[in-house]
Amino acid sequence: MKLVSYWQDTATPAGDFRHTAVPEEVDVAIVGAGLTGLSAAVELARTGTRVVVLEAQHIGWGASNRNGGMATTGLAIGLDKAISRYGRERAVEYYLAYDKAIDAVEALVDEYAIDCDFTRHGKLSLALTPAGLSGMQETADVIAGIGDLPALHVLGPSEIRQEIGSDYYHGGAVDPRGAGLHVAKFVSGLARAALDAGATLCEDAPVVSMERNGTRHVVQSTRGPVRASEVLIATSGYTGSLTPWLRRRVIPVGSFIVCTEPLGADVATELLPKGRMASDARMLTYYFRRTPDDRLLFGGRARFALSSPDSDLKSARTLRRAIAEIFPQLSDTTIDYTWGGLVDITMDRMVHAGEHDGVHYSLGYSGHGVQMATYCGQQMARRLLGERRDLPFEGIAFPPVPGHFGSPWFLPFIGAGAHVIDRWNLIKGGKE
Ligand SMILES: Cc1cc2nc3c(=O)[nH]c(=O)nc-3n(C[C@H](O)[C@H](O)[C@H](O)COP(=O)(O)OP(=O)(O)OC[C@H]3O[C@@H](n4cnc5c(N)ncnc54)[C@H](O)[C@@H]3O)c2cc1C
Repeated sequence: MKLVSYWQDTATPAGDFRHTAVPEEVDVAIVGAGLTGLSAAVELARTGTRVVVLEAQHIGWGASNRNGGMATTGLAIGLDKAISRYGRERAVEYYLAYDKAIDAVEALVDEYAIDCDFTRHGKLSLALTPAGLSGMQETADVIAGIGDLPALHVLGPSEIRQEIGSDYYHGGAVDPRGAGLHVAKFVSGLARAALDAGATLCEDAPVVSMERNGTRHVVQSTRGPVRASEVLIATSGYTGSLTPWLRRRVIPVGSFIVCTEPLGADVATELLPKGRMASDARMLTYYFRRTPDDRLLFGGRARFALSSPDSDLKSARTLRRAIAEIFPQLSDTTIDYTWGGLVDITMDRMVHAGEHDGVHYSLGYSGHGVQMATYCGQQMARRLLGERRDLPFEGIAFPPVPGHFGSPWFLPFIGAGAHVIDRWNLIKGGKE
């Protein structure tokens, strides 16, 4: 079993930027070369803006090359909760931003001819219990009542078999606008587009300090300083001591994935006949999909721990058991890959994009960053250029996480609580 992301292992990097010189002076310095940093770099560089992306490791090393490759609709907190928290008008604006973000990914794929298996196969949300299915029907009714939102198709117990080769779930809901892609190929494509437009990419270049010198920021990397008019922090779940204000506002939560051996088209079609991006309705969600070469990619917050070889292997065992429970036909299937990464969760589970102390940032995608990081990076670039942008998340209050000053010591307690709630819901629904 390889302890590396399947996406990373099956994509060609855009190049080797470990020795690219850090420029002395730029208009914008971006910290972090994931989807946020790279999409911002493309948007800035194509206007002739001088931009450098400084990455501590290598391009896509963070969550961007480690995720499920699912670009799906719907807010992390759900539309109903958003309406009760922000009112109908703002909630709908936030909800639609997720759709616009998938369109933005598709537009980049088309414009830069990025070969990354982008397909609109749709999103499948799976209900574990009758109560879960009723909740999905209520959301579908709210969406239908708003009028200008695309409909969700709810499927009961007798119809769900059209969508999944398993008797495990009680029903589900389909949103055909959800998409899937080979995310590391997309990351490489964005990096190439940024380079072609004139951006400088520097790997192995952790930024260790930032200070103001008049109207300029001096951004100090281990490979030398760069003076920049503006700085964009794009560090997501890997936000560290460089930006303590942001670090207090982001909880890095481990998420883990396993990927089976190639199953062949017949078996893969039996599991997910329509190739949907699937996730279930637990607090500690399981999410799964077919890969372009017909493996099953299966992920979840199997452990409340950071990713490490030991942690990834322990998570793989939990995920392996979950696969066998949901798809007994895969009980003897070999797992080829396992890996983990950090998801950036905020207190309110909303995206946060804006400026603090003259430094710009965008993060808090709460497991929806494939499209939201791409979109917000692009929109933050427009903000930096002083152009019109469509970024409804600017201005949402961004509270710190109480008691969080460095490492997230409280995660095991949150994890234990979530496990208890999931177990209780499964017992109530007759699943255990
Ligand atoms: C296992 C897993 C599964 C996921 N599945 C999905 C999914 O299916 N769909 C979805 O929409 N989202 C998913 N996500 C979330 C999504 O991957 C992220 O939200 C998104 O990739 C964030 O992109 P980013 O560019 O903001 O940050 P990242 O890709 O995390 O990049 C941040 C980068 O900043 C760098 N960095 C940090 N500090 C410094 C510094 N001081 N100097 C220089 N560089 C620095 C890091 O090295 C890192 O490479 C998943 C995440 C994980 C971990």
